[in-house]
Amino acid sequence: MPKKVFRFTHTAVDYYFDSKLSLLPTILPRKNAILLTDEHLFSAHPKQFKGWNTIVLKPGEDQKVQATVNAVVEQLIDKGADRTTTLIGVGGGVVTDLTGYIASIYMRGIPFGFVPTSLLAMVDASIGGKNGIDVGLYKNMVGCIRQPQFILYDAAFLSTLPDKEWINGFAEIIKHAAIKDAPMFRQLEANSLLSYQKKKVLLSALIQRNAILKTKVVQADEFEKADRKLLNFGHTLGHALEKQHDLPHGSAVAIGMVAAAKLSGHFSPFKDGERLSRLLRQYGLPVGLDYDKDPIFDVLKIDKKKESDFMNYVLLKKIGQAFIQKISLQQLYNYL
Ligand code: NAD
Repeated sequence: MPKKVFRFTHTAVDYYFDSKLSLLPTILPRKNAILLTDEHLFSAHPKQFKGWNTIVLKPGEDQKVQATVNAVVEQLIDKGADRTTTLIGVGGGVVTDLTGYIASIYMRGIPFGFVPTSLLAMVDASIGGKNGIDVGLYKNMVGCIRQPQFILYDAAFLSTLPDKEWINGFAEIIKHAAIKDAPMFRQLEANSLLSYQKKKVLLSALIQRNAILKTKVVQADEFEKADRKLLNFGHTLGHALEKQHDLPHGSAVAIGMVAAAKLSGHFSPFKDGERLSRLLRQYGLPVGLDYDKDPIFDVLKIDKKKESDFMNYVLLKKIGQAFIQKISLQQLYNYL
């Protein structure tokens, strides 16, 4: 099985690209594993879970809360899970975020691994060791940074991923290209959602390229003191819009990226805003929204990237090169 090992501050993570869930027993014995998944995955891929001790959650962001953590911990106790148990999240970002968090607190920490099944989880959520849950309106308010032991990629899961979830994943892929990888931006311009869905080799290369891009950013700055912040491109306004307008995450980030691209022109020579919007539209993402500025600004102000009266905003110098700009809240309000 092709394996790449990536080192982080405290640990190393094995990435099994182009792999199969059926190869999991070669990584660890079944008796030491408990799989955590959601009902969508469990019903769409029943064979994959056969013979595995599995806990099945209800799907959706609403489940990424403390009540789910408590319920899973009780099931782990019932199943006799101990420090020799590895908890394996098989699912989208909700399942992987929960898995990492629960494994980090159960018995003060047991090992965990991920089998990401949504495009977004493959290129983004399963990578980097951020685990956690939401508290009320506040996303990822409670959690920890701890790396999984392994990430196993099985593209067969993507056969059942709804199109709207593919589009969510492409928002993060376009974000990666915009901040760090101009050649990938051009490759995305030359292709389409359909061409990636049809061409397995092209898709697999794209997933690997994005997984490695994010991994390298995290390796250089695991605890988000500098460059890791660039991954928040489009997310400052995006998160505020997502909460207030109940938008899919990818749509909110896309609108946030367009706004950040416009803002970039005030602080750098960036001129490719229209090119970014064109690419987002090409992948089915929205590029604008009529929103009420004041309530959005009230949420935006409590973003984790705020420092007293300034916001650290991720902007673009050019396609493939991002930077962080301190912007006063007043200035930001005027520009929005
Ligand atoms: P998700 O886990 O809710 O999955 C989206 C939907 O797709 C769900 O209904 C799920 O059941 C379904 N699904 C997933 N894989 C499927 C498949 N193969 N076939 C059929 N249905 C499938 O959401 P997501 O978009 O994968 O991830 C979003 C979450 O990830 C958010 O909670 C976000 O905060 C988190 N996230 C975390 C990080 C991080 O660094 N930890 C980064 C980005 C996002």
